[in-house]
Amino acid sequence: MAGVMNKEVLMKTYKLLAADGSTVISETPGTLGGNSKARIYGRLDCSAANSALSKGYAQHRVFFANEQDAIQAGYRPCGRCMPAEYKKWKSGPEGNGSYPWKLLPK
Ligand SMILES: [Zn+2]
Repeated sequence: MAGVMNKEVLMKTYKLLAADGSTVISETPGTLGGNSKARIYGRLDCSAANSALSKGYAQHRVFFANEQDAIQAGYRPCGRCMPAEYKKWKSGPEGNGSYPWKLLPK
């Protein structure tokens, strides 16, 4: 590709939370949202998350590229929009070798 770009291209970027907890700039939006205060991750269209946005959640909202990053960052699944993962998380690591979450259920 030859040629010079004269116009400045404003690329839309997204701030995502990486697996190590650092913030990374991505050109693609995250697939999951998260609450950095409660350390919960869930779907972007989660009804619980969206109804909480106006009640202070917006300032704690982070985004993840994928579920692995959210888990590695120490987040647990949302009970509203990810019931299967939530149930698995809630049931705890005992007898479950594939339990990926870091935090023990409370
Ligand atoms: Zn949710």
